[in-house]
Amino acid sequence: MQELWATALPVLRQQVGERNFVTWIEPICCATDDEGLRLEVPNRFFQDWISRHFLSTIRSTLAAVATHPCAVRVVVSDDWSAPLPAPLPARPARREAPERGRRAPKIGRLVPEYTFDTFVVGDANQVAYHAAMAVTETPGRRFNPLFLHGGVGLGKTHLANALAHEMLARQPRQRLACLAAETFMNSLITSLRQDQMGVFRDRFRLVDTLILDDVQFLAGKERTQEEFFHTFNTLHGSGKQIVLTSDKAPADIAGLEQRLKSRFEGGMIADVHPPTPAMRVEILQRKARTLGCELPGEVTALLAHSGGPSVRELEGALTRVIAAATLRGLPITLDLARQTLGPLAARRAAASVETVQEVVSEHFGVSLDELKSHRRNRELVLARQVAMYLSRTVADGSFPAIGEKFGGRDHSTVMHAVRVIEGRRGTDRALADALVTLESALRRRVAA
Ligand code: ADP
Ligand code: MG
Repeated sequence: MQELWATALPVLRQQVGERNFVTWIEPICCATDDEGLRLEVPNRFFQDWISRHFLSTIRSTLAAVATHPCAVRVVVSDDWSAPLPAPLPARPARREAPERGRRAPKIGRLVPEYTFDTFVVGDANQVAYHAAMAVTETPGRRFNPLFLHGGVGLGKTHLANALAHEMLARQPRQRLACLAAETFMNSLITSLRQDQMGVFRDRFRLVDTLILDDVQFLAGKERTQEEFFHTFNTLHGSGKQIVLTSDKAPADIAGLEQRLKSRFEGGMIADVHPPTPAMRVEILQRKARTLGCELPGEVTALLAHSGGPSVRELEGALTRVIAAATLRGLPITLDLARQTLGPLAARRAAASVETVQEVVSEHFGVSLDELKSHRRNRELVLARQVAMYLSRTVADGSFPAIGEKFGGRDHSTVMHAVRVIEGRRGTDRALADALVTLESALRRRVAA
């Protein structure tokens, strides 16, 4: 049996990728007993992580190598021989999902941890957050459909789940469906094959709330779009709430029928942006706390400024650092974090206020002197406010420090500018697009 594990290792290395392999799989000690294969890990944290992320891959790999399924379980070792940190900061009893979050949807499944409570709200996502909250308060009325869109790993699925938990908490008896567009399609295909379309239609057209995740997946799937169109109309027509998420705005989903696009555009569209540095810090601190770890400030700062915009990636980096410390029995320090993250760590040094000023003046075609001057024509005021906003959100400068660099202005002027741009970002599409362009230009500039 242990040979089986040894044979599976190289395959697993390929399956999970080098980094995951070294962090999670390699350290496992394999033993056998009456019940089958026992994978021993140093602590609960490992056990949780492996069970959640790798166990199904491990099972299928072992089954493939052994050519028959074999019983596998992950257990915390009683006598882990590798040095462990004096005790892995005791993991607080996993916060029970509040009773209200426990109800299950009629169709689909929810991630228990993805609630409004665990969602960090800030500049980047407050429009989407408030829209989602509003939907739970008056479903089917104000924002129907609610269409959430934004890049990968920015919290769309989390928000959609949070909304679902809250809807179920408020109306436990309602029939709620929360599923991926892909699952919708698979269910449709099965029903077609089994000649059960009547059942399929009843199933979806009788829900009170429909949440469909990643609708960009429907692109090019004509039969599914057709069916979904009718589902949509039936539900919408009877005042049922529909929530959709996508990695793109409706207009930008190539291969999506026009009639669906216009339905999607008929309600509220809210986009989620990459979190600001301040939000990244908050996300890290909360996440570390739920893992029972205390993160030194400098490690938090390093992590907040490393890697790409995705929160999923951010959480991955944090987990690797904690795992590395746990495994080697070391405290979480800046050096350890740097070593663990390798080249990733440097990628996202904060832009300086000066860089922001340069990039913004180029974008708006105004000179640096004009940008810092006290002249007030409209174009110039906008450019200046945008530059102040980005100095705060991307460069993370303090209000007084930013004011100083804009011709010695008062900190309240900077605060005002940030508020103005924040507000307009939610309503002014052109400005929102310009900000995204500028934010990625800044990120590239810093990375270079
Ligand atoms: P998406 O669906 O947009 O690709 P997810 O909702 O799957 O992204 O989010 C990826 C990970 O990041 C999840 O673990 C989620 O909990 C976390 N996450 C994203 N945004 C936030 C946020 N604002 N606050 C807390 N966690 C977040
Ligand atoms: Mg998602």
